[in-house]
Amino acid sequence: MGSNPIGPTESVRAGYGTLPADNHVHSQWSHDTGPRASMTAACARAVELGLPAVAFTEHLDFTEWGPGDPISGTGITPNDQWGPRPFDVDGYLSSVDECRGRFPSLRILSGAEAGEPHLFAASAGAIVRGNAFERVLGSLHAVPYKGRLVAADALFGEMSDDAVMRYYFAELVDLIEGSDLFQVLAHLDFPRRYWPKGAHLYREEPFEDEYRAVLRALASTGRVLEVNTKSPLASVDQIRWWREEGGTAVSFGSDAHLPRRVGDRFKLAVDVVEAAGFKAGRDPFDFWRV
Ligand SMILES: [Zn+2]
Ligand SMILES: [Zn+2]
Repeated sequence: MGSNPIGPTESVRAGYGTLPADNHVHSQWSHDTGPRASMTAACARAVELGLPAVAFTEHLDFTEWGPGDPISGTGITPNDQWGPRPFDVDGYLSSVDECRGRFPSLRILSGAEAGEPHLFAASAGAIVRGNAFERVLGSLHAVPYKGRLVAADALFGEMSDDAVMRYYFAELVDLIEGSDLFQVLAHLDFPRRYWPKGAHLYREEPFEDEYRAVLRALASTGRVLEVNTKSPLASVDQIRWWREEGGTAVSFGSDAHLPRRVGDRFKLAVDVVEAAGFKAGRDPFDFWRV
């Protein structure tokens, strides 16, 4: 893991047993952040909150692909609504180094949020493995639909709201089974963020079978479920399903795109995860475990 020095500081001690590490933060190096995103300010916020660690998991997305990517040869065309500027890995890593020097009491992990890693295995793998990233998230933001890769939320209106979720969950199982690049599955019900406002509220129960299929696939590979606090918060039932399907570890992620969002709603998320039977791991930097 990281080489930054960990001193027995007050903030580390305060973090243990209170707030977990934030394993999902974006900084100015992600293609979808604005001018107020700052790695330095995000670290300062983490220290202020007493978080033991923070991982900068910048977006790793592709609108072009190489011959080693499973998407090549499928005839699927790129998602032109989500046009990432290339990830400047060298610039990013030098910011991480600078922050490690500036915030010695905070453990700072390098990382990436690999979008659709089952489709971009070679392109994403070259960057993640080539730079020995420490915290790698797997994410599904876009799904193949009618020959194109489209943002998952764009499916609302194309089919029933329930069908959107089922379409997403089915692709997510393919992502888990088709990629070993990532350690933590991010925001497993991502389109829920865009659930149409109206008479019917989003409920997890109608999708219990689909959630369980995703969780079973993830647990069978020994990986980690994220509780994402930018999305509507997971219920205790959802985290219990995770445990029942064999899940043993939970990661907390604010998915902050602004420094003030680091560690957002973590106290509430901790209550949910504890109620489902998980507790702080081996040390303050660990995942929460059964
Ligand atoms: Zn994401
Ligand atoms: Zn994210």
